[in-house]
Amino acid sequence: MTSELVLDGVRLPGEAVLPGARGLSGPLGCLNEARFGIVFGAMGAALDCLETAIAYAADREVFARPLSSYQLTQEKLADMALELGKGLLLAVHLGRLKEAGALTPEQVSAGKLNNVREALEIARTCRTLLGASGITLEYPVIRHAVNLESVLTYEGTSEIHTLVLGKALTGIAAFH
Ligand SMILES: Cc1cc2nc3c(=O)[nH]c(=O)nc-3n(C[C@H](O)[C@H](O)[C@H](O)COP(=O)(O)OP(=O)(O)OC[C@H]3O[C@@H](n4cnc5c(N)ncnc54)[C@H](O)[C@@H]3O)c2cc1C
Repeated sequence: MTSELVLDGVRLPGEAVLPGARGLSGPLGCLNEARFGIVFGAMGAALDCLETAIAYAADREVFARPLSSYQLTQEKLADMALELGKGLLLAVHLGRLKEAGALTPEQVSAGKLNNVREALEIARTCRTLLGASGITLEYPVIRHAVNLESVLTYEGTSEIHTLVLGKALTGIAAFH
């Protein structure tokens, strides 16, 4: 038995794969759709992390007081809630632009770059609130953090989306 896949002579009509697509517009359009989904998905992961951290900090007692009663903890929670709220508003705004047929690839880049970056930062901060428990799979935070590390790289790395925005702002492509 061989696992080799022989594709000689196989033909796929273009319409069967991406109907109506010409050149690279089809594949690039697919990537744009996937990135748009990530704008929302990253916020879902961040929300789960934040809710977990809020519950954990309320339960966990340190120096005879709940962890959530300390100012440093509350600053972390407040900052994360702000970034989560801003990211969700950005996602909803991009969704409305998409529904209106006015969403540009650069705006999707802005959404993907911001929301994945901030979601990862939220996951990392939540992990600190859970202390050593934060590195175990007993809680979902480290799983989200590791997954978000992947999301930071796929569907356009954060560096490339930064360069997309740089080009939009300056008119100069700095990719190469
Ligand atoms: C979990 C996961 C799933 C994936 N799934 C898929 C998939 O389904 N299909 C698919 O095709 N690919 C997939 N990928 C691949 C992903 O798209 C690539 O890893 C990504 O594009 C980066 O390419 P690279 O790993 O070759 O890194 P490199 O291209 O070697 O880049 C390394 C680093 O250099 C940076 N860099 C590159 N060019 C520049 C530049 N001009 N200026 C400044 N910095 C630069 C990058 O941002 C990155 O930080 C997946 C990756 C992961 C992690």
